[in-house]
Amino acid sequence: ESGERLQKVLAQAGVASRRQVEKLIQEGRVKVNGFTVAVLGTKVCAEDEIIVDGVPVKKAEELHYYLLNKPAGVISSARDPRGRATVVDLMKNVPVRVYPVGRLDYDTSGLLIMTNDGELAHRLMHPSYGVNKTYRVWVKGPMEREALEQLRKGVELEDGKTAPAKVISRSGFRQGKPMDHKQHFPEILEVTIHEGKNRQVRRMFESVGYPVVQLERIAYGPLTLDREHFSAGNYRSLTIEEVKRLR
Ligand code: URA
Repeated sequence: ESGERLQKVLAQAGVASRRQVEKLIQEGRVKVNGFTVAVLGTKVCAEDEIIVDGVPVKKAEELHYYLLNKPAGVISSARDPRGRATVVDLMKNVPVRVYPVGRLDYDTSGLLIMTNDGELAHRLMHPSYGVNKTYRVWVKGPMEREALEQLRKGVELEDGKTAPAKVISRSGFRQGKPMDHKQHFPEILEVTIHEGKNRQVRRMFESVGYPVVQLERIAYGPLTLDREHFSAGNYRSLTIEEVKRLR
């Protein structure tokens, strides 16, 4: 039998505590679809109309959490005035409307949390929360050591100086023989920031003379993108453990 137990639904809706709610039911004060239900454990579903002491109950919406691997070429606001595809359009088989926690640029791919938990979303996006976000960054390298040091210390952008960032080169060109610096090599770095300025990573790299060629978010707080098993455009539910770690 599907559905949730009536006492649980009422308690989650904030009608009263679980024990008080059981008492209300047993006292015959609860109606489901017009009929008094005095039996504990009766299952109800989302469409059922529940009334307590003559007052309709607004059921708490179930909270849903997903990890989306956003492809490049999709916008991450819920609506686009220009009618382009949005991340919300990618969430095809979810029972509720979910919204992105923060933004990734149109051209950026990677980890984006989608949820209908507005409270958690709000908290995670608040600057004081300072969630660490790690990006994989592709530039035309090799990058000068000096430029890396500047990024690590913080760079001056038009809306203020960036906080120190963690910057790791994943290419390893600097080991071994000196390079011909006129030749371009794709260099891959991993950058961790906790601020959320608009287009921050792209602007940081631009400011030190290495425009970003490709950008992918690979971690958000405790979550990482397992992209070998999980290609762009796909999503999965977060586990209960993952949701707990975000809170
Ligand atoms: N920094 C950027 O420049 N773009 C993003 O999408 C995210 C961080």
